[in-house]
Amino acid sequence: MTVHDILNDATKALEAADIPSARLDAEVLLSFCLGCDRLEFYKNPVMTISETQLTAFRNLIARRLQWEPVAYITGNKEFWSFTLEVNSSVLIPRPDTEIIVEEALNIYRNFTSLPVRILDIGTGSGAIALALAREITGAKVVVTDISIAALNLAQKNAATLGLKEKIDFRQGNLFEPVDGLFDIIVSNPPYIAAKEYEELPVSVKAFEPREALFAGESGLGFYEKLIYQAAGFLQKNGWLLLEIGAKQEADIRRIMEASGCYDSIEMRRDYAGLPRVIKARRKVGG
Ligand code: SAH
Repeated sequence: MTVHDILNDATKALEAADIPSARLDAEVLLSFCLGCDRLEFYKNPVMTISETQLTAFRNLIARRLQWEPVAYITGNKEFWSFTLEVNSSVLIPRPDTEIIVEEALNIYRNFTSLPVRILDIGTGSGAIALALAREITGAKVVVTDISIAALNLAQKNAATLGLKEKIDFRQGNLFEPVDGLFDIIVSNPPYIAAKEYEELPVSVKAFEPREALFAGESGLGFYEKLIYQAAGFLQKNGWLLLEIGAKQEADIRRIMEASGCYDSIEMRRDYAGLPRVIKARRKVGG
């Protein structure tokens, strides 16, 4: 069998199981198996592979047919301008989360004093914090997570990217392990409400960590705590940036306004046009 035939068969099997992006998944898994770039399959469609490689590939396809996310199968995921190691103890970083990185960088460009102190609450794989540490030369970054396994992986990712020295890793509940004041606080906290959790696709519900997604009855619990507690950790005129669910904008604005701690509350949409990030500035004297 050629790679052309192997990929066609695998794509058909994935399509028959209603797996989205079947062809892409088949190509990514085959390139992972062979340790080559996906482009090779187009350059050389008549290429053949060994029996051992074919068996290994079929095992990976069998896992995908059970809806295991490709990123957990290969153990990595692209984010921003780099590749992160991921495993089942962390949320797979989503492309939409790059919006919060973009917004934090926009804010940083207006900062005159260095170093810029940044805090990422619930860092998971480290995605947001590592992108910021990489882009901002004079950044001092603190990251937290309640999950020690997630924090260990974030630390490993930081080491791979040569960023370990710029980042301070702290385990604990929200701001509990944090001290000092920050210029920018970012967080992509769990925000799935109980009712929505049940409706998540199997690939998410059965594989991604519940504690990275689930946020109680309303889905707003983490925001409420973050908004009130962050006020005590922000410099005057420092910024809080939160990734939000598409339907949460009004509720989160309401919480921010009610806290009396922020002004310049603004929402940024993602590239699908959905509300994705809310940013707010710590009021002087609020
Ligand atoms: N920032 C990452 C991960 C988001 S998932 C990204 O955008 O990809 C949310 C993360 O919050 C998970 O890693 C989860 O372990 C962490 N978390 C959940 N409850 C927490 C709490 N009470 N305090 C700190 N972190 C928490």
